[in-house]
Amino acid sequence: MKYKILSKYLLFTLAINAGTTTFGQTAKKDTLPPPAATEDWSVKPPLVTPGQHDAPPSDAIVLFGNENDAGKWQHADGSAVKWKVGNGEMTIVPKSTDIQSKQKFGNIQLHLEWKTPDPSEDQGMNRGNSGVLLMGLYELQIYESYQYLTKIYYNGQAGSIYKQHAPLVNAANKPQTWQTYDVVFEAPVFNADKTLKTPAYMTVFHNNVLILNHVQLKGPMVYQGYPNYKYHENKLPLRLQEHGSRVSFRNIWVREL
Ligand code: MG
Repeated sequence: MKYKILSKYLLFTLAINAGTTTFGQTAKKDTLPPPAATEDWSVKPPLVTPGQHDAPPSDAIVLFGNENDAGKWQHADGSAVKWKVGNGEMTIVPKSTDIQSKQKFGNIQLHLEWKTPDPSEDQGMNRGNSGVLLMGLYELQIYESYQYLTKIYYNGQAGSIYKQHAPLVNAANKPQTWQTYDVVFEAPVFNADKTLKTPAYMTVFHNNVLILNHVQLKGPMVYQGYPNYKYHENKLPLRLQEHGSRVSFRNIWVREL
C-alpha cells in the first residue's frame, strides 16, 4: 500500500517536471515571448568617464578640488570660508563655525576625503570630531575611531549616523591619514500637507568598506532627545561641521541622482 502511494506520487511529480524547466518555466519555447520582449531600449544610460585614481567622474559637481578654491562654500551667514585652505585641503579653524555648500542638493552620491589631526591636540570626547550633514540636517559622523583608541558610544563613532545608527564595522584609518566616505543619500519626501511621506535613507562606504547599508534615518541629527522629521525644502546645502577639532577635507564631489 505504502509503495503504491509512493509510486503514484513519483509519477505525479515526474509528470509536472516534464512540462517545466528550472523555476517552473514552460519548456516549450514557442509559448514564451520572443527574447526581444524583455529587452529594454527605452532609456539610454548617459556616458560617464570614471575618474582615474581619486579623480571625480566626468559628470560630478566638484565642490572642492585641488585648486585651493573654497568658493563653492560659505558660512551660514553668507560670509567667505574662514577655514584654512591650501595644499588642496580645507582645514577647520576652531570657532570659525560650520561651512555649507552654496548649491543645494536633494538625492546625491557624495565622495569626500577627511583626515583627523594629531590626537594629542584634542581632548577625549572631541577627538577628530566633525561631521558631514546631508541637507545640513542628517549627520554622518566624522571622528577619530582608529582601533577604538578613543572611547565614544558606537552610534557616535566614525561612520555612524550620529545617535541613530552605529556602522556595521569600524573601518577607520589612523589619525592624520586620509580616509574616504562614499555616500548614497536619499532625501526624505514630504506630502503636500507637509507631513512625512518617506524618510531619508543612507548607504555609506568608509575607506571602500560598506558600513551603512540603506539605513532609514529617524530624522535630523539631535544631540539631546529623539529625532523627529520636520518639513523642509527638497534641496538644501551640504554642511561640514566645525566642532573645535582641526579636521581636514579634500576631493569633495557630488553627483545629483
Ligand atoms: Mg560630529
